[in-house]
Amino acid sequence: MKIAVFSSKNYDKLFLEKANKRHSHQLFFYEPRLAFETVSLAKGFDCVCVFVNDKLDSKVISKLAEYGVKLIAMRCAGYNNVDVETADKFGLSIVRVPAYSPYAVAEHTVGLILALNRKIHRAFTRVREGNFALEGLLGFDLNNLTAGIIGTGKIGAITANILNGFGCKLIAFDSYKNEHCQKIGVEYVSLESLFERSDIISLHCPLTPETYHIINSDSLKKMRTGVMIINTSRGGLIDTQAVIHALKSGKIGHLGLDVYEEEADLFFEDLSNAMIQDDVFARLLTFPNVIITGHQAFFTKNALENIAETTLSNIDNFKNGICSPNAVICKCVKLKNR
Ligand code: NAD
Repeated sequence: MKIAVFSSKNYDKLFLEKANKRHSHQLFFYEPRLAFETVSLAKGFDCVCVFVNDKLDSKVISKLAEYGVKLIAMRCAGYNNVDVETADKFGLSIVRVPAYSPYAVAEHTVGLILALNRKIHRAFTRVREGNFALEGLLGFDLNNLTAGIIGTGKIGAITANILNGFGCKLIAFDSYKNEHCQKIGVEYVSLESLFERSDIISLHCPLTPETYHIINSDSLKKMRTGVMIINTSRGGLIDTQAVIHALKSGKIGHLGLDVYEEEADLFFEDLSNAMIQDDVFARLLTFPNVIITGHQAFFTKNALENIAETTLSNIDNFKNGICSPNAVICKCVKLKNR
């Protein structure tokens, strides 16, 4: 198939081209994000291959349909940036990569917890400047602390497993109880109880209307003073203004983010010579007890290999009229039966 790969970086090209030796699709790489301003680049393609910050709203999807695009191939698990209803209405199929390396994201989550607790980001710069004082670097033992996991799917369960190794007490909120989590002693509790009891809260649920701003001024009130909050899931889970307020008051003791609600204008680009226009983000950067990474939790060699292989296999399946288990919407069966 003829595929327009949007938001493509050198690493996307490298891994997709390598995997494509086994698939033989025609790949065209475009650096810009797919949005209304760039959708005309999709003219003449069968498939658009997109990532987390491409904007596939109803206007973009109706244009894709007009240009004859049949398939939206996500190079990620989440598809909250796609208007699924409109895609369905216009007969477009959507495939995704549900799991490429849950270990990558879980390990990054724990990396943020450790770095925040032991202030490794501050120690690194201090030691480089010849400052070996320990004041301000005091941490705490993770052993025996209570970690609350919101969403115990693939990533949440692995995070729980790693934290279990540190000797944390584990509680979780999810309407589906994960068997492995139960086996290692994770206690499922109400969301309210998780907020009240956790020393560390880690978010691993998808962004849906139900989970939008799950961390807000009301939920923050229920939490322990000094709570550590980690979000490697989706930016929209956190009301950033409420979190800034809670950082200023000391309610939040540590905050680790790999995602940010307005990240689309910032992340994945080198803006080191630009003036950041987002004042809310700029304020977050001023806190010594906040670490932000730019949506890099997934970014391991293993994950990029899996993303490339699964994306191209998903496209093969669509082309061959096979309704893949990785389809969000599949119209290929209908095509085959016609
Ligand atoms: P998953 O589908 O395996 O698990 C999600 C879990 O969340 C499920 O168990 C589900 O029941 C639960 N859930 C749904 N609604 C909930 C709610 N209201 N409250 C509590 N739990 C709820 O997904 P996963 O592979 O573990 O990924 C989790 C999230 O991680 C994804 O949605 C994605 O947004 C994010 N992610 C981030 C990166 C990154 O690089 N930062 C990479 C991959 C995925």
